[in-house]
This record gives sequence, C-alpha cells and structure tokens, in this order.
Amino acid sequence: MTDLTTSKIDLLSFDIAELTELLQTKGQPAYRAKSIFKWMHQGVGFESMSDQPARLRKELEDECCLAIPTIRRRLVSKLDGTVKYLFELADGCCIESVFMRYEHGNTVCLSSQAGCRMGCRFCASHIGGFERSLRPSEMLGQVIAASRDTGERVDNLVLMGIGEPLDNYDNVLKFLRLVTAEGGLNIGARHISLSTCGIVPNIDRLAGEGLQITLSVSLHAASDEKRSEIMPVNRKWGVDELLAACRRYFERTGRRISFEYALIDGVNDNRHEALSLAAVLRKHLGKMPIHVNLIPVNEVKESGFSKSSREQVDAFVKTLKEKGINATVRRKLGGDINASCGQLRMNEKSL
Ligand code: SAH
Repeated sequence: MTDLTTSKIDLLSFDIAELTELLQTKGQPAYRAKSIFKWMHQGVGFESMSDQPARLRKELEDECCLAIPTIRRRLVSKLDGTVKYLFELADGCCIESVFMRYEHGNTVCLSSQAGCRMGCRFCASHIGGFERSLRPSEMLGQVIAASRDTGERVDNLVLMGIGEPLDNYDNVLKFLRLVTAEGGLNIGARHISLSTCGIVPNIDRLAGEGLQITLSVSLHAASDEKRSEIMPVNRKWGVDELLAACRRYFERTGRRISFEYALIDGVNDNRHEALSLAAVLRKHLGKMPIHVNLIPVNEVKESGFSKSSREQVDAFVKTLKEKGINATVRRKLGGDINASCGQLRMNEKSL
C-alpha cells in the first residue's frame, strides 16, 4: 500500500508479519520488525528510531510514510476538557476525532471515512460529500495524534465519528487488529465499540472474526416506514432483517449489543414509538442482554430536525423501562464545542 500523494509505502498499515517481510527484502533481521512497529505506534518518526541503524532509518524515511494526520483545528471544551480535532490527511481530506475523559478512562471517537455514503437525514457526516474511505494507518493515526497532543493514554475507542465503518470493512478490520496488537497500542478489544447504521451482510462477517468488540447499532426508529424515511440504508435492509442479524451476532459472539436512538422532536419520540421499539426488540432479541442509548438529537441546521424536550426524553426512557428494556440517556460531553462529528468538516468545506 502506498501513500496517495507521494507514492511512499504506507508502513503504519503494516502488521508485524508484513513489516518483517519488508525488512527481509532489505536484508534486515526479523527482530527489527517488533521494535519499528512499537516506535511507529508511539508516533515516533523513522529518523528518531534510536535503536535502528542509521542507514535503515534513512531508507525508511525515503521510502515510507507514517500516516499520522496533522491538526488543522483543535477545540477544547471549557465544560469538561473534551478535545475535538479537525485532522487533515496527506491528500488534504479532512476528518474529525474527539478525545473524551470518562471515569472509565480516556476515549477517542474516530472517523472511518472522509464523508459518508449513507445519507442519514439527521447526520452532518454526508453533507460535505463522500471523499474516500480511510486506510488502517489513517484510523490508527487519529488515536496516535490525539494521544500525542493530549499527552495521555487512550483506553477506549469508539468508531462513531465520520463514516460508516462497515462500508470500509477490510480497512476497519485491519485497523482493529493493529490497534489491539501486542507491542502496539494494545487497546483491549472489549474497550472498543463499532457503530453501524446496519449493513447486514457485514454484521454477519464481523460476527465471524473472533473479536470481542462491542457492536453498537444505530436504530433510531422501530418501524420500516419511519426508519426508511430518516435512514435510506433501511430500504435495503429493513428492521426485521437488521435485528435478526443482531441476534445472530450475539449468538455467535456472546457480546451484548447496544442500540443508538436519537430522539427527534415530533418524529420518533412519542409513546407509540417507544412501545413499538420495546416490542420489536423483544420480538427479535428475546431475553438477550441489550442496552438502548438515547441521545436527544444534535441539531444540524440542514436537517431541519430539533431535539426532543426533556419531558419527552424522560417519558421515552420510562416507557422503555416499564417494558423491561435497559435504557439510558447518553451523557453529553463537549456540548460547547459541537463535539458531535461531521459538523467541523462540513463547515470547513463550505469556507
Ligand atoms: N455510521 C455509523 C457510525 C457513525 S455515527 C453509524 O451510523 O452508526 C455515530 C452515531 O451518531 C450513530 O448512532 C449516528 O446515528 C449518531 N448520529 C449522527 N448524527 C446525529 C445527530 N445529529 N444527533 C444525534 N446522533 C447522531
């Protein structure tokens, strides 16, 4: 794999085996791979890899690139210290990541694509248009850059930034293997959540990968009619098909699934919708452990949607709980910096 602008080798996308192979073609011993892998994942440039011979360092510098994005904008929340980044990739594409401090550790929310093809009506990610999918190195680079900038360790990851991870399947999978690798950042798979709008065949593929990650499914409506209206992907894979895939995922992995539900005023937030949601979840998932994350929708000007009132949100939670569904309202971090993804990139594109 080569860099898009300079045709250099994209070394940060390499796993240890691939790195070993490359080094062997250069007549270098295999043991160097481990050390170079470690340096790269710490964000250290080739020239500064102090335990490597000078000639090799120079060769790597000339032939390879380290796809760590540059910070184009950086917003820090005065409320809770959340940091939002607008990162620029080597070819000028912009993406967003967010660094959040929770009690259970530091969490980075990262992007998997520059733009999105899914077109969910409430979401800002597709407004600037779809540019391209990210490489494994460019996902890893977001974590490395955020950790380097804050000087803090990253404990958890959520693939909930710009893009649809299951529309960039192979690269996302490679990224997951790299970021959980021993000798690299070594983030536990159980500390990683992947969020999808519901690309059913790839949920099934993911179920067979033997990863202990948490799957998060963006549901946002319980009926096909309503869901298709706000999420075009539902016209391809409807609610029944999606929830059947969730069931298979759980049966195969034993991992609890969480559902995202953005509450939109007058669209999907009344009692009838809450009852339908509880009923459809029960019908497909029975007694499976599930969790519903309710999020008062972040208002994106272009969508014309507004968030449900506090009372509506409370009533929705109450109805779900009455029906035995585990639901919480997501605590919002970075409320003063527009921390929800897609909006910085969108503004950047309209400048
Ligand atoms: N494409 C993936 C991941 C990216 S979005 C997915 O669809 O799941 C991460 C989460 O934020 C998703 O649940 C998405 O539906 C939600 N989201 C997007 N725009 C939002 C908004 N304006 N308000 C609240 N949640 C939003």
